[in-house]
Amino acid sequence: MLLSPFNLTERIMIPLVEEPKEHFEEFRMYEKCYFECGSKTKFWHWRTNQPICKKCAKTHKVSEVEKCTPKYKAPTKAEYMKSL
Ligand SMILES: [Zn+2]
Repeated sequence: MLLSPFNLTERIMIPLVEEPKEHFEEFRMYEKCYFECGSKTKFWHWRTNQPICKKCAKTHKVSEVEKCTPKYKAPTKAEYMKSL
């Protein structure tokens, strides 16, 4: 069965990047999701520098996420990936 682009159940509202494996191996822990779900996650919303799990990314909007610090300047995705 082919997936119709109009019938995606995996619709993500908040774009996430996966924390590189090397990063995880260095710190040995995942961050706690920004939302109240309590999950540990290796996914980040790079524009706010907040950890967000995949489940919450589907049910929340970017506008609900505050930046980690008000002055945090959102990098482009490419810049963010380079800084890791
Ligand atoms: Zn969550």
